[in-house]
Amino acid sequence: MHSLPEDRGLYMPLEIPSFDSRHWKNLKELTFKEISYQVAKVLIGNELPDNILEQIVYDTVNFPAPVVMLDEQIGALELFHGPSQAFKDFGARFMSRLMSYYNKDSNQKITILVATSGDTGGAVAAGFHQIEGIEVIILYPSGKVSHLQEKQLTTYGDNIIACEIEGTFDDCQALVKQAFLDDDLKSKYSLSSANSINIARLIPQTFYYFEMWKQLPEDGKELIVSVPSGNFGNLTAGLISKKMGLPVSKFVAATNINKVFPDYLITGLFRPHPSFSTISNAMDVGNPSNFVRILDLYEHKRDRLIKDVEGFYCNDTETEESMKEAFDKYGYILDPHGAIGYRSLVKRSDKEEVYRSIFLETAHPGKFLPTVEKVLQKTIPIPEKLKHFEQKVKNSELFNSQFETFKEYLLSRDY
Ligand SMILES: *Cc1c(COP(=O)(O)O)cnc(C)c1O
Repeated sequence: MHSLPEDRGLYMPLEIPSFDSRHWKNLKELTFKEISYQVAKVLIGNELPDNILEQIVYDTVNFPAPVVMLDEQIGALELFHGPSQAFKDFGARFMSRLMSYYNKDSNQKITILVATSGDTGGAVAAGFHQIEGIEVIILYPSGKVSHLQEKQLTTYGDNIIACEIEGTFDDCQALVKQAFLDDDLKSKYSLSSANSINIARLIPQTFYYFEMWKQLPEDGKELIVSVPSGNFGNLTAGLISKKMGLPVSKFVAATNINKVFPDYLITGLFRPHPSFSTISNAMDVGNPSNFVRILDLYEHKRDRLIKDVEGFYCNDTETEESMKEAFDKYGYILDPHGAIGYRSLVKRSDKEEVYRSIFLETAHPGKFLPTVEKVLQKTIPIPEKLKHFEQKVKNSELFNSQFETFKEYLLSRDY
C-alpha cells in the first residue's frame, strides 16, 4: 500500500518459493486463470484467504495471452489483449483489486498519483475505474502523448482525474515525487503509487510467463525469452519466474538506445542518464528503477547475472527495419516495442537452432498507428477496444510544472 519502504529502497520478497512437481504435473491442462492462481498462491501464500485471492486473480486475467509462432523458431507472446491493449493491464488490474480489498474496512480513501508518458496511465485508468475506495490522479505531459493515448487518460471520469502538465514526463514524475514528501498533502491524502516500483504490479506479470511455457511443445528445445524493456519490471517478473523454476535458458534484455542495462552487463558500470526520445517511447528510461531488484535477485553478483541474461539494443532505424521485415516475411504487424524484442532474436537465431525463441509483444500495434502506418506504408484500423475513446470528450485540468500550483489544487479539492 505504501509502494516505497521507509529506507527508500524497493520491496522484495524475502524468499521466492519454487513451483514443485505437484504444480508442474497438470500445468499443460490448466486454463490461464488456473495457472495464474497457482503461481499467485505459491508467491503470496496465506496472506489472503484462498477464495479472495482466486477471485482477484480470475478477475485480473480475464483476457488471453496467446503465443503466436511466426515460424518454427521465433514466436510472439501477445500481452496486449486487455482493456488498454498493453501488458500493463495485468499489473494495473491486479493492483487495483488487491488495494480495494485491503482498504475495504477503512474509511480513508486512497489516492493514487501516477505520472505517465502514455501507456501506464491508460492501463491504470482502465484498471482502477469505478474501483471502490480509490481515486487516481494521472499526470501527463501536455502535447507529448498520442491522440489516442490522451483520450484513454482523460475520458473515464468518475474516480479518474487527469492533470495535463505543461512540461515533460520528467516534470510529471518530479511533481509526483514531491507530493509524496509533502507533509500538508500527506495529512489530507492517503497517497500511493501505481508505477512499477510497486511490487504488486510485478506479481501478476509472472503469470503469463508460465502461460507461455504451457503453450509450447515439449520437444527438448531450450527456451530463450526476449523482453523489450524500459523500467525493467517485466524482465524482473521473468527472472522471478525463472527462480520459481520456469525452464528458460536465457533472457534477453532488449532496449532502444536508452541502453544503461545492456551496457552494465558488458562493462559492470551502471551509468544512468536523462532519457533519449525514441519511437518506442514507453521504453525511454534512462534510470531504470527495477535495476536494483535484478541485482538483488542475483545477490549483486554480475557474473551470475550474465549467465541468465544477455543484453541487446537497437536504434529507431533498426526498429523500423524489423517492423518491415516481420511484415514482409510473416505478414505480422509488430509495434515499435515488440519489434526490438523480435530483432534481438533474429540477430541470434541463425546460430542457434537448438533454441526456441519467444519475444514479448508488449502493446497492440494499433496504439502506435502513425509510426506503424508510416513504416509499413499501409493504413491500419484502430483496434476495436480503443475505438469508443474516439467519440469521447477530453476532460483534464491544465497546470504549469510548478509544484506550488499543483499542490494548491490538491489542497483545494473536495475529497
Ligand atoms: C511499459 C512498456 C514497456 C517497458 O516495460 P518495463 O516493465 O518498464 O521494462 C515496453 N513496452 C511497452 C509497450 C510498454 O508500455
